[in-house]
Amino acid sequence: MTDSDKQNKKQGRITVVGMGPGTESMMTQQASRALDQADVIVGYTVYLDLLGNRFKNKRFLTTEMKQETERCRLCFEEAAKGSDVAMVCSGDAGIYGMASLLFEMREEFAAAGEMKTAYEIKIDVVPGITAASSGAAVLGAPLNHDFCVISLSDLLTPWELIEKRLRAAAEGDFAIALYNPSSRKRHDYLMKACDILLETAEPGRACGYVRNIGRQGEEYVTCTLAELRSAEVDMFTTVFIGNSQTRISGGRLITPRGYINKRRQL
Ligand code: SAH
Repeated sequence: MTDSDKQNKKQGRITVVGMGPGTESMMTQQASRALDQADVIVGYTVYLDLLGNRFKNKRFLTTEMKQETERCRLCFEEAAKGSDVAMVCSGDAGIYGMASLLFEMREEFAAAGEMKTAYEIKIDVVPGITAASSGAAVLGAPLNHDFCVISLSDLLTPWELIEKRLRAAAEGDFAIALYNPSSRKRHDYLMKACDILLETAEPGRACGYVRNIGRQGEEYVTCTLAELRSAEVDMFTTVFIGNSQTRISGGRLITPRGYINKRRQL
C-alpha cells in the first residue's frame, strides 16, 4: 500500500448505539445521526426490525439472540475493512448492552495479534434511554430517590450473587428496577427474587411492571410486592419495586423525593 493509499483508506470505526426502548421518538438525535452516517448496521434481528424502513438503504448484518460475541466480531471485521459500523442495542448501549464486550474484544484481538490494527478501530458509545427510565415514566415516578438496577438473568452472573445484591438493595431501602425478570427457562425467578425482598420489605410494598415500553402493546400494572410474587412477566418486561416510602396514588407509583415533607415541617 502506498502512502497515498494509506491516506485515502477510510479509517474504520464502530459506534455502539443505544436506540432507546423502541419507538423512533425515544431515540436521541445523536443515535439517529450515528445510524444515518453508518455504512453498515449490525444488530439482533428484533432491534433491526424495530428500526423499520427508516434506514433501509443501509447494509444490515444480523445474528440471532445469544450470538453476542459473533455480532461484535462482525463489527470488527467490517470496521477493519474501513467501514463505519453502527451496532444497535435496545435502551442504553452500556446498560446490559454490547459496549463493554466490544471494548473487551478489542483488547483480546490486540493481545492475540489477531487484528493488528485493533486499537486503530475507534469505538464510540452513544447513550440511549434505558428501560428503567422509560418504564419509570410510564408508571409515574417510582425511581425518584436512590435506586438500583438488578438483572435477574443468571446466564452470565451466578444466582448467589444476584441474591446477595437483592438482599443488599432491600436492606439499603433502595427503589429497584429489575431487568430480565423472566424467560422461558427462568419462569420462577421473579417469585424467587420477591421472596428474598420479602425478608426485609413488607408484603404491601408498592410495585409495578411495564411490558413493551415504547413498543406496540405497551401495558403497565401497579401492585403490591405480595402480588408481584405471582405476577406473570416475560422478557420484554421491566419490574419496579418501590422503597419504603413509595405509594400508589391515582394508579401511578410515586417515590417521594422529600420536598413535600420538608415543606410541611417549615
Ligand atoms: N440495554 C437495555 C437492557 C437490555 S437487558 C436497556 O438499557 O434498556 C433486556 C431487559 O431490558 C429486558 O428483559 C427488560 O427487562 C428490559 N427492557 C428492555 N427494553 C424493554 C422494553 N421496551 N420494554 C420493557 N422492558 C424492556
